[in-house]
Amino acid sequence: MEECHIRKVSRNHKMFLNRSIKFYVSDMREPESVIPVPDDSIVCDSCNDLIDTLIISLLIINDRVWGTVCEKCRIKYHSDLSEIDDSGVVKDE
Ligand SMILES: [Zn+2]
Repeated sequence: MEECHIRKVSRNHKMFLNRSIKFYVSDMREPESVIPVPDDSIVCDSCNDLIDTLIISLLIINDRVWGTVCEKCRIKYHSDLSEIDDSGVVKDE
């Protein structure tokens, strides 16, 4: 059975650094082209909206990161999931 939860991380998490989109032609080991993605450009993997919040929600399925989820999609599709806050961001009371 799938185990799913939401893990919250800072948008400064190292997973968002030095990303790129790579295009491969079949049977080639090296990518045909590589397009760098700016570190601050984080989009929702569900609806493709730009996520501009300090804390980013990750959908975790069976201990693997499925993708990023914006607040709108988190509430719409994943509000029943438990949340783990690994953001280290201190919220104002
Ligand atoms: Zn979304």
